[in-house]
Amino acid sequence: MQRVITTEKIPLMLWLAELDADALEQARHLANLPCAFHHVAIMADAHVGYGMPIGGVLATIGAVIPNAVGVDIGCGMRAVRTGLSDIDPPELKKILAGLRQAIPLGFKHHDKPRPVASLPDPGDLEREMPVVAEEFASARCQIGTLGGGNHFIEIQRGRDQRIWLMVHSGSRNIGYKVAGQYNTLAIRLAKTKGQEAIPSQWQLAALPLASAEGQRYLREMEYCVAFARANRREMMNAFQEIVAEITGCDQFEPPVDVAHNYAARETHFGREVWVHRKGATRAFAGEYGIIPGSQGSRSYIVRGLGNPQSFMSCSHGAGRVLGRKEAQRVLNLREEIDKLNARHILHSLRHRSDLEEAPGAYKDINVVIASQADLIEVVTELEPLAVLKG
Ligand code: 5GP
Ligand code: MN
Ligand code: MN
Repeated sequence: MQRVITTEKIPLMLWLAELDADALEQARHLANLPCAFHHVAIMADAHVGYGMPIGGVLATIGAVIPNAVGVDIGCGMRAVRTGLSDIDPPELKKILAGLRQAIPLGFKHHDKPRPVASLPDPGDLEREMPVVAEEFASARCQIGTLGGGNHFIEIQRGRDQRIWLMVHSGSRNIGYKVAGQYNTLAIRLAKTKGQEAIPSQWQLAALPLASAEGQRYLREMEYCVAFARANRREMMNAFQEIVAEITGCDQFEPPVDVAHNYAARETHFGREVWVHRKGATRAFAGEYGIIPGSQGSRSYIVRGLGNPQSFMSCSHGAGRVLGRKEAQRVLNLREEIDKLNARHILHSLRHRSDLEEAPGAYKDINVVIASQADLIEVVTELEPLAVLKG
């Protein structure tokens, strides 16, 4: 940890030297929530988000906050170590072409619904999970699809002399709908109950755990977390099939799969709490994690140290240094492309709008990793070889 900032209520603990003013203000809001517990942890990749910084960890008692989970519920990374010790550019190109065929990218989805068995069992939908019930039919066309912008499929070379496969994706439209509807519900509930404890401009409306709405949110949120994992599993299965077909190697180790937008019931500092990780990854002692950098920098496979100060969490990536619009304005497309070409990375920069996802839009991953030596240890470093973006 690098510094502690005191507030009127609980402290902020930060794993970074500088936090932009807007994100710092958001962190102060979190610390002043009536349901916030013990302290607020701000990870090394933190930057401003909607209501709560991305790269933040909030523990609560008695309530959950949809905007402290985020809109892409269950978004996360899946990484697989292959038996391949090398791969050549023609093979990489063929794999990318195969992926484009097999996996709908961006806002595209499958034409035909996938078998129900590929989705987590939703149980008694209508009564228990109204939003999931409403979205279920379209979710069957969205499982196994990447989604837009920031999501990616990547082939990497590890320091361990193995080729790795990585997928970053979330719960597609179903999580987005759950997040939006329960945030609206939380705002409405606060108004009818006359709770003015949380100023509405903080965008952190809470749902009491004692309410039917709070319980329903938890069920729907947990479903979306499972859906997002199933989504990554479907894509990784397709990815492995393509790699096997093109390289002849069908040796794949069990995946590491971590979510970075969710809330979970855990025990910290002797209390049972709801830990909200928004753009943060669990880092229990000995547990594997994934911290990606960008399409032009290293990604890391890490092992958690179980540090209670971060509620046993770590960063979920390098984090943005430039906002999306800012990246388009500030970065130079030609320069960003030249840098990636010089390193022979099969990248995804074509248009000005792709600058939102250029390496220059993200923080220096080496600094981010070094800032959390008390939270994780590095298992393997991965260099990007080829990437597809949403
Ligand atoms: P988020 O879930 O907040 O959109 O992104 C997670 C993290 O993924 C970012 O903070 C960034 O460090 C990393 N990242 C974004 N794009 C890429 C990419 O194309 N490849 C890799 N390896 N990492 C990326
Ligand atoms: Mn996402
Ligand atoms: Mn994500």
